[in-house]
Amino acid sequence: MNRELDELLCQRYPRIFRDRHAPMTDTCMCWGFACGDGWYALIDTLCAEIQRHVETTGIGEVVATQVKEKFGCLRFYVRSGDVHISAMTWFADYLSGFICEECGAPALRTGSSWIQTRCARHGGENFPLDAPTRAESDEELLCPEWLPANKHAAWARAAAFHLPPVRTRGWRHIATALEHTIRNDLRHNELPAVVITNVTESDALRYRWAGGDTRGWLAAMVRLAEAYSARSDRQTGAAAY
Ligand SMILES: [Zn+2]
Repeated sequence: MNRELDELLCQRYPRIFRDRHAPMTDTCMCWGFACGDGWYALIDTLCAEIQRHVETTGIGEVVATQVKEKFGCLRFYVRSGDVHISAMTWFADYLSGFICEECGAPALRTGSSWIQTRCARHGGENFPLDAPTRAESDEELLCPEWLPANKHAAWARAAAFHLPPVRTRGWRHIATALEHTIRNDLRHNELPAVVITNVTESDALRYRWAGGDTRGWLAAMVRLAEAYSARSDRQTGAAAY
């Protein structure tokens, strides 16, 4: 990430990035933000939400220990925190796989030996904003035969889960990322069944739902998706700095 954006993040979130210039024996933050500028808005949104959560709940300081790209996604590691913080960093990882690491445009995660998330202009593939029904492959949705019987219900719930279609073109990649993450959590992480009861699209995406967990995991992921939509262009999906 370029120096200007790096400094901006450290200025805005001095407590989260207080180890930015600490020695390498203490933290990996000494290497800076080891990812492209296109994820700046996502990191900024994530940090604003972390900061807000810390201030409203008094959970104690959350300090970043490493921020980097890995397998085409954003890894944001922190010291301390709670379930809300874990859910947001988890979803930020997933959402980054739909955002060009170079420019912030909606993109797909592609490649096998070298996995990257880049738009077509930056050597990758655009997210299909006009055909957002692109689903996970059947192989991903089908329950593997070797899976123990007690897991089958979770896989069935995941396969049946859908978010309502989003009318706002530039927010569709965010909704798709959220849908895939919830499906993954239904399938693998014991997230109880969820039904989305309403979505509105005024200043941002806003979801209401029934079910889900009581720990705040789902709520934290939805919150980050909504916050990121608020700063993403309604037509192009590009996120404002
Ligand atoms: Zn790009």
